[in-house]
Amino acid sequence: MFRTLIIVAAAVLVFLIIKNRLNGKNLQRQNTQSTKTDIMVKCQCCDTYIPRKEAIISGTNNFCCPQHERDWEKDHSNSD
Ligand SMILES: [Zn+2]
Repeated sequence: MFRTLIIVAAAVLVFLIIKNRLNGKNLQRQNTQSTKTDIMVKCQCCDTYIPRKEAIISGTNNFCCPQHERDWEKDHSNSD
């Protein structure tokens, strides 16, 4: 009787271990599908939001195009 209990317990344990391993594989597969999110930055000149990788970054300022960078620099440079 006692030996039967041990065999049943061992069988349940093995079943749980296999089940956990299968679940672990599924979780790993889900983790590899990472969501790509672009960080949006605002153009200092026209307040348009653009992805940071497409923005023109000048110091702490971001611009949507070289023209707006030049316009903004012109308006904010050495006006004294
Ligand atoms: Zn702009």
